[in-house]
Formats: sequence, C-alpha cells, structure tokens
Amino acid sequence: QHLGRIEAVDGNVNAFLEVCSDSALQQAEEIDRQRAAGEKVGRLAGIPIAIKDNICVEGWKASCASKMLENFTSVYDSHVIEKLKAAGAVLVGRTNLDEFAMGSSCENSAFQQTNNPWDLERAPGGSSGGSAAAVAAGMVPLALGSDTGGSIRQPASFCGVVGMKPTYGRVSRYGLVAFASSLDQIGPFARNVADAALLLESVWGHDRRDSTSVDVPTSSLSDQLEEPLKGLKIGIVPEHFSNGLDDEVRDKTEQAIESYRSQGATIQEVELPYAKYGVAAYYIIAPSEASSNLSRYDGIHYGHRASSDGNMSLADLYEASRGEGFGPEVKRRIMLGAYALSSGYYDAYYLKALKVRRLIAEDYQKAFQDVDVILSPTSPTPAFKLGELVDDPLKMYLNDIYTIGANLAGIPGISISAGQTASGLPVGVQLLAPAFEEAKLFRAARMYE
Ligand code: GLN
Repeated sequence: QHLGRIEAVDGNVNAFLEVCSDSALQQAEEIDRQRAAGEKVGRLAGIPIAIKDNICVEGWKASCASKMLENFTSVYDSHVIEKLKAAGAVLVGRTNLDEFAMGSSCENSAFQQTNNPWDLERAPGGSSGGSAAAVAAGMVPLALGSDTGGSIRQPASFCGVVGMKPTYGRVSRYGLVAFASSLDQIGPFARNVADAALLLESVWGHDRRDSTSVDVPTSSLSDQLEEPLKGLKIGIVPEHFSNGLDDEVRDKTEQAIESYRSQGATIQEVELPYAKYGVAAYYIIAPSEASSNLSRYDGIHYGHRASSDGNMSLADLYEASRGEGFGPEVKRRIMLGAYALSSGYYDAYYLKALKVRRLIAEDYQKAFQDVDVILSPTSPTPAFKLGELVDDPLKMYLNDIYTIGANLAGIPGISISAGQTASGLPVGVQLLAPAFEEAKLFRAARMYE
C-alpha cells in the first residue's frame, strides 16, 4: 500500500532519492512468514520506514545528496539501522536532503528538489526535507532524519508532522555521515507523538562504536505517554515573540500556550540572555567541524575522483575532485570553517564560539531550574517559497534561530503541529527539555496533541 502511495505521489513531491521496492517487499514477506510460522516478531514488524540519505544501510547507496558520494555504497549498517532491522521494520528507501545536511530547504541537494506536499511551490524545509515530506504525504508512517541545528524540527514544522531531536549522545552516530560531530543527532519523524516515541525508543541506547554515545538508562517512553504532567511548568522567552516572527506563527504559538494553560500548566517567563548569539556561534562551530570532517573526501581516500590525464599532481587531483564533487553551500562552509580554525583566527573565532556555546548551555540549565520545558515557535515563518531564500545564505541561516540552541546545549527538542495558517500551511511549535528528559518532553508534547 505504501509503495503504491509513493508511486502515486512522489512524482510531484520528490521526497525519495531511491525507493528500494524489491528489498522492502522481501523484508515484508519475511515478516509475514515469521508471523505465519508463529515466530516472535519485533515491535516495528512490517512497518515501512524511510531513511535520510546520510545514514548508512548495508548494500545501499548513501549519497548525502552530494556528487561527492554519488556512487558510494555502504558496506555496513549504522547502529540505528541494525536496531530497526532487529525490530522488524521495513526499510523503504533513501530520502533527499540538503547536501551533507547543510541547509534549511533541500535546495542544496545535488540531485533534486523536494516539494512541500502542502504546497508544491514551497520548500519542505531542511535538511531532512525528504523524510519530513515522505511522512507528511502518507508515503511512510515513520522516517529517520538527522538534526545538527534544526534539520529534523524545522522540516517537521514546515510539513505538519512531528519531528524530534534527542539529547546529544542518546542515539549512536555510528554510520551517520558526519556533518558537525558535536551537534549531530539522529531522530524520528512521525505523524503523531506516540509514533515518534515508538521510533525513538527503537533506535536509541548505548553503542560503544560511537565514543560520544552515553550509557544513561533509557526508560520506556510509550508506557508513560498518556499520563498528563500535573503541575507542568512551561517557560517562554519574551524575545522569541519579537521582531522577525511571522504574525500567524505568533498566533499559533500563543494558542498552544493557552491550550496548556487550560490544562492546568503554569506559564512563566524565563531568560536566555546568550541565546541571541546562538546563530553566530553555530555558524562558526558547525562549519569548523564540517571542514575537518569533509577533508577526507579528496578523491583518493574517499569520494568522487576527477578524471586525470595521468600528469596531474596530487594537489591538483585533490583540488579538481573537491571542486567537482562539492556544491556551492558545502564549499562555503568549508571555507568558513577552515578560516575559523586557522592559526591566528582560531582564538578569535572558533575558541570564542566554543565559549559562547558554554554560556548558552548554562542559560538553559539555569532556566530549567524553574521550568520543566521551554515552548517557542519552531521556525520564524511557515514554509517559504522555493527560490525565495536560496540566494541569501544569511536569511536562510536565520531560519534556525529557534532550533540551534538545543544542539549547542545538547538538549532534546520536539516540534509538534500547532495548526495551519489562513492559507493552509502547517505551523509547528517547539518544546525543549533538560538533557535526558525525553520522557517528560514526549509527555508534555502528547498533552497538546
Ligand atoms: N540549517 C542548518 C544548517 O544549514 C541546520 C542543518 C542541520 O541541522 N543539519 O546548518
């Protein structure tokens, strides 16, 4: 049924880079056989899942929507994929993204433009726009994305679905192609909070192959989900509602606050004094880590190799391969990052950004002494038109203003649907919780649904 739905609508949406129908049907038939034989099947048995194309699946390509990795086939499964397979999930295909997860609209994909299913002329958000659009258009009930600065939550809000970024270290990054290693986390997309919780608890847990994976006990999220939180204290940050915020997004966010108030939650203002430096710090730290992570793609160690007449020097071959393999946004990030890390500038930019990051993390810690969760818009506007921001990187970067703090602080965040604008575009609101408090975050999110 889902493959039929993909066949019917993905010609317009372009969420998938590749649909792996044959292997999906095989996996589904294997589940049928196990069921018929009375064997025990996993919690996700037979459930179709789409995978962002920066997560390695054995025998599948993992292109990161880059010419650099166009012909790369993974020889192993990521930790999350091992877990999904063990739970009986059916992997349906690879979804589109901004090249190497850098972007907020999927327009930086080297291969195709994904369209927002609610309005095909608008962006699905990014970078995990393919996964968000696939769930929104009913092509799959669940998908995995990755979130470095908002790449799960922002497309979820643009596409009217639930998207969640776990605490840093909760989900193993083994097999996730690195963008900015200290910020990246894999997380779930789903049509509702309960499904997102089910997917997260199917993939999280300690993995010694990722040295940043944490060994903190995981409790069942699903079991507690239906218990509303008595006396829930919600923090709001006054600056979140000021300049740059679309009026309809403000209205929907205020309605969400009212809904919580009517359920007995108390609303309290909190201060995040350093939050205003979040975008600036992120756009030093993320490109710095990216420039280091992407140095391996030189056509010799990894990735696309330029054709050579045999007389090319090694440096020329690197230059030609990287010049052809990377798109403009990736090159911009590499240049920014290499500059910020270079001797003489390191202290002024990179080190300074790390210090600001620490202050931002402390802001959240202080705020969470007074409140359980912080509520804000997910994104300052509903889905923008394709082409509208693509030539203005700074405006595009400002789309991440509400989401970036969670990555810098390592805390969990979720975007849930808060209704639609008058013209019928979805609007999301974001909830953030202290590190490792996913159970509280999901319960609070479920109350609003
Ligand atoms: N939009 C942000 C960026 O371009 C976030 C991307 C992400 O979370 N992967 O870096």
